[in-house]
Amino acid sequence: MELTPITASAKGPADCFTGDVYVTPISAPTAPSYLSAGIVHFTPGAHTNWHVHPNGQTLHVLEGIALVGTRDGSVVAARPGETVGCDPGVEHWHGATASTIAVHIAAVVGTAHHAGTDWNEPVTDTEYAAAQSAVNRQR
Ligand code: MN
Repeated sequence: MELTPITASAKGPADCFTGDVYVTPISAPTAPSYLSAGIVHFTPGAHTNWHVHPNGQTLHVLEGIALVGTRDGSVVAARPGETVGCDPGVEHWHGATASTIAVHIAAVVGTAHHAGTDWNEPVTDTEYAAAQSAVNRQR
């Protein structure tokens, strides 16, 4: 067993996120397991860039409302206690709504040579607004 002391939270880098995002590591990938997990805090309006996980991703919501959108325009609004599975190779983004925070655990499995995420361009304001509209229609 290994007890890891409380870990510093790092600001999500601007080349991967829009808005203020903080990531607190839970598990760093270490051979023979390449599980990478962290708690991600998104302030209102903050979200990831478009990205892909070759081996998929599990998101578990702890607080607020987390939006997860894909290129086909689908968007899921997940609440605390709910888990969203992102399929391997399917490009997506995730984050807060415009008016609420989102806090989720994010877990990905990489390989010895790949951290598990391939980052792409930012979600446009139009794409983000469309996701808000889609969620509002679901309520
Ligand atoms: Mn993801």
